[in-house]
Amino acid sequence: MQDLELKWEKIIEKLRMRISTFSYDVWFKQFEPIELDNEKIIILTHSSSAKTQILRNYIDKVNDCVFEVLGENLEIVLLDPKEKEEYIEQHKVKEETIVKKEEKNPFNEKYTFDNFVVGKSNQFVYAAARTVAEHPGQRYNPLFIYGGVGLGKTHLLHAIGNFLLESNKDLKIMYVTCEQFMNDYVESLASPTKNKATMEFRGKYRKLDVLMVDDIQFISNKTGTQEEFFHTFNDLYQAHKQIIISSDKPPKEIETLEERLKSRFASGLIHDIQSPDLETRIAILRKKSQQENYMIEDEAINFIAEKTDTNIRELEGKLSQVYFLATLAGKKTAGIEEAKEIFDGQEEQIKDELTPEIIIDKVCNYFGASKADVLGKKKSKDIVEPRMISIYLISDILDLPLKSIGKIFGGRDHTTIMHSRNKITEEYKNNKKTQNIINEIKELLKSG
Ligand code: ADP
Ligand code: MG
Repeated sequence: MQDLELKWEKIIEKLRMRISTFSYDVWFKQFEPIELDNEKIIILTHSSSAKTQILRNYIDKVNDCVFEVLGENLEIVLLDPKEKEEYIEQHKVKEETIVKKEEKNPFNEKYTFDNFVVGKSNQFVYAAARTVAEHPGQRYNPLFIYGGVGLGKTHLLHAIGNFLLESNKDLKIMYVTCEQFMNDYVESLASPTKNKATMEFRGKYRKLDVLMVDDIQFISNKTGTQEEFFHTFNDLYQAHKQIIISSDKPPKEIETLEERLKSRFASGLIHDIQSPDLETRIAILRKKSQQENYMIEDEAINFIAEKTDTNIRELEGKLSQVYFLATLAGKKTAGIEEAKEIFDGQEEQIKDELTPEIIIDKVCNYFGASKADVLGKKKSKDIVEPRMISIYLISDILDLPLKSIGKIFGGRDHTTIMHSRNKITEEYKNNKKTQNIINEIKELLKSG
């Protein structure tokens, strides 16, 4: 079974490459094998709608990944939590045959410093992370790393963790996502023996040598959790324990983050990780191909690097798709044809299903803006930004004439539309924040 656990991790890793991060997080957040025999693998999904979605949209990908790792064509049976109970009841699956997660090194062994490609976009953060790994609690405390999705924040946190554990097995290191920290805290509050549970919660976090909290931006609006985190932070900090935090934005932009936390974060080193330049993207693709034993022609690598210019996770996903396509065609080495095919297909796919309506809805959702306002006349910044980005995306993706876009936006003149489009086009080139916003929305559009 332990063997299955390792293989399962590989399967999941492959799946993550082939599914957009957004869809993955929504549908695959709990996706675990329950039982494996010679004919089938039984997998638990976290809800019946997740099961339906996976069956409808992703089952081929799951099949492929299972086949690639286990080398067998197994029947895949998906169960929702209720069906799992029934299944166990009917089949009298013995407890021990159910796969259990064991306590183990919490760090992904692939996320090391050695596997991290250093370029202009990340050299400072890399250096800071190494320093912290070599002298925990002594320099840069806390270390606060921020940057857009898929740029290597989690990788660096794990790299520090792997490095630390290698140098000293006895160090008490904890890596949690902000969500885990929050859940842990909320659970302790809800416990019938609340006082004891709160003590346990505090004890657990405050005995640490190193605490890492990934994606801290989710703490915004969670007042209770912020309060608790503040105390945890202070205790660890005063005891010279290392704290490492990642976020998708700098502390000052995390809405409703308490001032005292902002100033705590500012007492250490805050640094951003930017989108990799072309050279770095190529280097990352080369490294990844080596690691995975993918044979890919340079021309194809360059093509992928040129076409995918921000998110490294997406870059890796494209690489494995290209290689996979070549394998399907019985080729040993993937070339430019496969690379082109992957990108052609993708652009078509987004375009076919999209309408201006859907784009505007997604953008409004993303910004939490009202659609009526975005289509209307308001000029406040929180409305103008989603409006201009909607216009840009409609023009960029759907290629609609400016006049038609003007009509959608309450009969605006085509020169006004052109102005918005051009402004965002410029910003997309020069402003990392806009780039991230647009890429994230595109990612959301892709996942439907
Ligand atoms: P984030 O946490 O910032 O969203 P991740 O750390 O999860 O991003 O990185 C996404 C993927 O990109 C991971 O597979 C990671 O290994 C890879 N990656 C990111 N940066 C680099 C890099 N500089 N060199 C090699 N791989 C990288
Ligand atoms: Mg991350």
